[in-house]
Amino acid sequence: MVLGRPAAVEARPLALEDRPDPSPARGEVLIAVEACGVCRTDLHIAEGEVAAPLPRILGHQAAGRVARVGDGVSGFAEGDAAGVGWMARVDDSCGYCRSGRENLCAEARFTGRDRDGGYAEVVTARAEWVYPLPPGVAALAAAPLLCAGVIGWRALKLAGIQPGCRLGLFGFGASAHLALQIALHLGCEVYAFTRGETGRRLALEIGARWAGGADGDPGVRLDAAVTFAPAGELVPAALARLAPGGTVAINAIHMSPIPSMPYELVYGERVVRSVQNATRKDALELLDLAARIPIRAEIAEYALEDANAALRDVARGTVRGAAVLRVA
Ligand SMILES: [Zn+2]
Ligand SMILES: [Zn+2]
Repeated sequence: MVLGRPAAVEARPLALEDRPDPSPARGEVLIAVEACGVCRTDLHIAEGEVAAPLPRILGHQAAGRVARVGDGVSGFAEGDAAGVGWMARVDDSCGYCRSGRENLCAEARFTGRDRDGGYAEVVTARAEWVYPLPPGVAALAAAPLLCAGVIGWRALKLAGIQPGCRLGLFGFGASAHLALQIALHLGCEVYAFTRGETGRRLALEIGARWAGGADGDPGVRLDAAVTFAPAGELVPAALARLAPGGTVAINAIHMSPIPSMPYELVYGERVVRSVQNATRKDALELLDLAARIPIRAEIAEYALEDANAALRDVARGTVRGAAVLRVA
């Protein structure tokens, strides 16, 4: 499913094309995609809010089997269950890369934006950014872990969650429903702030203490919060519920402007910070956690050729859990 020109999702910007299979270059593997998660970032690229060289095959949560191994690759063999996420390569030499913060590398390149991604039957990826998938987790369930899960995990860490802390999740889509399961596993009390009834019901089913609107009052002060929806007004809304010393982590690659707000909302040593991409370590930790907890992804399944419909449903906020394309 190829993006030729960005457009509103209602105009169906992705088109089904038949292309020859790519060969893995030196240092790369070719993955036969079985499932690919649909991320809000794909929506931003399809609609032109996040720029990409075109034409481009979107998708950065591809789970499947290694089909071919390029020269110079060790650690993968044909048939291995493997997945690729958003990070596609970094320079491995800058200060960020040398200090374990390669998510901030200025030379970072991304799957489904700078190189073709997983809305396809096959995808090539650099081997150091390919992850072995947890045993016993089907590709459909593994796919949303690769970005929604990983970035949610990083956001929880940056929000400073601790056992027993009160955590607010603002917006309740693919990433939040996975983050909620991790937070419960780590002993947090979780409060879900989301406008949709679907998200509220799912949050309560999974184990949230409370679910309501962004301006709702759960009757407690939060120690930490993560915003997932790309709406700037959620930042002051989250701060208004936050106890002194707490952190709001913003999990978004693109967001509407944050409205001006009274200084009292950040006074009390409250912290507002964004989350940008994720490291290899984040991904390996999350995949390990996913197998041990175990995380159960709630999946809304679509055929590959229905990728436009999946993006539309992500835009409308009607997906229960994670939208995933079934490829094989
Ligand atoms: Zn993503
Ligand atoms: Zn770097």
